Amino acid sequence: MTAIVDAEKCSACGECVEACPLDAISMQDDHAMVDEETCGDCGACVDVCPTEAITVS
Ligand code: SF4
Ligand code: SF4
Repeated sequence: MTAIVDAEKCSACGECVEACPLDAISMQDDHAMVDEETCGDCGACVDVCPTEAITVS
C-alpha cells in the first residue's frame, strides 16, 4: 500500500506536502510525488487534495 499521485490531475497546490506527517511527499517539476519507501498509508494526503489526484492502493 502506498499513496500515488496522478500527475495529470495534480495542480501543484502543495496541500499534500503540508499534510503528510512523514514528509513522504515532495514537489517534482509541476506535480507532487510520493516516496513509496516513506509513505505510511495514512490517507491524510488523500483527504486534503482538492483535485482528487491522490489514491492509496
Ligand atoms: S498516505 Fe499518509 S504517509 Fe503516505 S504520502 Fe499520504 S499523507 Fe504521507
Ligand atoms: S494536494 Fe493534490 S493537487 Fe495539491 S499538490 Fe498534492 S496531489 Fe497535487
